[in-house]
Amino acid sequence: MSVKVAINGYGTIGKRVADAVSKQDDMKIIGVVKTRPTSEARFALRKGYKLYVAKDGAQAFADAGMEIAGTADELFKAADIIVDCTPGKKKDGSGTTGEDYLRVYRELGKKALFQGGEKHKLTGLSFNSTANYADSLGKEYARVVSCNTTGLCRTLYPLHQEFGIENVMAVMIRRAADPYDSKTGPINAIEPEVKVPSHHGPDAQSCMPGLNIQSMAVKVPTTLMHMHQLAVKLKKPATTADVLKVWEASPRVIFVSTKDGVKSTAQVMEIAKDLGRERADLFEIAVWKDGVNVVGDMLYYTQAIHQESDVVPENVDCIRALCNLEKDGKKSQAKTDKAMGIVKW
Ligand code: NAD
Repeated sequence: MSVKVAINGYGTIGKRVADAVSKQDDMKIIGVVKTRPTSEARFALRKGYKLYVAKDGAQAFADAGMEIAGTADELFKAADIIVDCTPGKKKDGSGTTGEDYLRVYRELGKKALFQGGEKHKLTGLSFNSTANYADSLGKEYARVVSCNTTGLCRTLYPLHQEFGIENVMAVMIRRAADPYDSKTGPINAIEPEVKVPSHHGPDAQSCMPGLNIQSMAVKVPTTLMHMHQLAVKLKKPATTADVLKVWEASPRVIFVSTKDGVKSTAQVMEIAKDLGRERADLFEIAVWKDGVNVVGDMLYYTQAIHQESDVVPENVDCIRALCNLEKDGKKSQAKTDKAMGIVKW
């Protein structure tokens, strides 16, 4: 059986999810929704994806010489599941695109998954492959948590399983904008999030209920990656070697080291290029091996998050969970990773 997947919102996340789904043997892309005939739309056609547009958008695509297959509603009706990668917050401040589309999907009786720009309350179910895959089995709607929350769950959940976590203090050093974004940034300033906790800690709790986490955040003038610095009080005694062993066995977590010359996010992104990854994506969370330190009952570590791509394998797993294609989260992750060329190294 091959599940029919529609992508609504073919931007930074949508185009990556489309390519990742296309690599799987149990699901396929039947079309993508674009609102405007941009170069991204042209590339979607070149990749063989059928383009669908909002009802009143067809003329602009015709003027640009781009063939469309139909309207967004027609695509949604033909799909088994819709991956909503629309931007979240609307420009006019009237709620989110996900809120509008959830009504549409519900009326059509279609399953859907949303992204981290939407709030947990939209679906009442947040998803991370490592932390809570099974919660989404057979459900109608879920939200794949944001890039930062995905990074937190990937490294914290295995620690929680192995040693127990008393509490976490996480500081998020956030990129100001994505590389393509010439409207938002970069900014020539450091902008603190003055609300404490920042939304990241509570968001991690949406996948790891009961996790005692505090978070703070600061935006810095870079576009490459986010960085997290964490201090974790463990319940059971552990050495630095014990912690490294746990992450060695954890999916989508890799080690980098300043001893290899990886001193910043710039060199981490160079690894993604050297791996030959399409769009230079790094789906894994990069933990500095020589920055992992246990002192007494406290663990300290630093990790980097490629915001444009770490949630992509999670979207594939979330489709599998909602459509009941695989009951075992670990098996789904292994299948997704094999197809996408994600390997431990
Ligand atoms: P984006 O702006 O790159 O892409 C959004 C796409 O949706 C664009 O192609 C836009 O034209 C299209 N769109 C806008 N309004 C639409 C509508 N009403 N109907 C259909 N399509 C519409 O945004 P993105 O970065 O891909 O973010 C998408 C979601 O993923 C957001 O919830 C965001 O918070 C989340 N997310 C983003 C990142 C990141 O760093 N970029 C990381 C993780 C999660």
